[in-house]
Amino acid sequence: DVERLKKPDWIRVKAATASSRFYEIKDILRANKLVTVCEEASCPNIGECFGKGTATFMIMGDKCTRRCPFCDVGHGRPDPLDVNEPGNLAKTIADLRLSYVVITSVDRDDLRDGGAGHFVECIQKTRALSPNTKIEVLVPDFRGRLEKALNIFADGLPDVMNHNLETVPRLYKEARPGADYKHSLVLLRDFKKMYPSAVTKSGLMVGLGETDEEILEVMRDMREHDIDMLTIGQYLAPTSSHLPVRRYVHPDVFKMFEEKAYEMGFVHAAVGAMVRSSYHADQQAHEAGVA
Ligand code: SF4
Ligand code: SF4
Repeated sequence: DVERLKKPDWIRVKAATASSRFYEIKDILRANKLVTVCEEASCPNIGECFGKGTATFMIMGDKCTRRCPFCDVGHGRPDPLDVNEPGNLAKTIADLRLSYVVITSVDRDDLRDGGAGHFVECIQKTRALSPNTKIEVLVPDFRGRLEKALNIFADGLPDVMNHNLETVPRLYKEARPGADYKHSLVLLRDFKKMYPSAVTKSGLMVGLGETDEEILEVMRDMREHDIDMLTIGQYLAPTSSHLPVRRYVHPDVFKMFEEKAYEMGFVHAAVGAMVRSSYHADQQAHEAGVA
């Protein structure tokens, strides 16, 4: 039985402020039957993000075909794709007047293209209604169908292609069963090679049992695979049945990771306890020269 670590005082979850924008977004999401990661993954930044009009949309349902023990998304047999979803998503983004959106999905190992075609349809429909909105996609690993999936993106490119490595290779078996470290790096490298105008991005969590040196090694691997943007945040166990937090990384260490990231040549690095892959995604992209 793992003793639960006490949260240090730099882990502060801001209460979800009941701004009118927050409720406006919730209402519009419900009306259009859209799911957000913000809600599904119990993200601690939801008050702030909804308050300022940012959200991360989760397409292709809320049931994942994988079971990563750090993740709070539901598992099980996924529902068939909702053909109206790309249209509903595009309309919602337009209604909410969002200038920057993140679109992500559960893993859909049941689909022949891993869901790439559905992503592209969402991008196309969103571009049609909101031509000035910047689009970031946070994609699953398309294992077993990578070439097919990457080719499909030629029909609708995102501004930012994000795929999270999540943790160091030594912990993959435990934390990302079904995924492969090298494969995820290759996904981002090949995407960049095929579509050099898009920016690539990846993220890590700390606190799963890795060392600082292992994190630095992953960062070096990322640069060797031409990844432009980086996020690193503290893992917080969603419930006591998820992987336990094995350490809380001190702010000074986050600072060190950030400095090293710029030395290594990342265009942007968002590093800090409460950073999430999509946290201030608009600002990250803006600082990286995208938006
Ligand atoms: Fe949603 Fe990302 Fe903000 Fe969390 S950090 S509330 S997932 S947009
Ligand atoms: Fe969660 Fe992604 Fe793992 Fe599915 S593949 S369980 S959504 S982290």
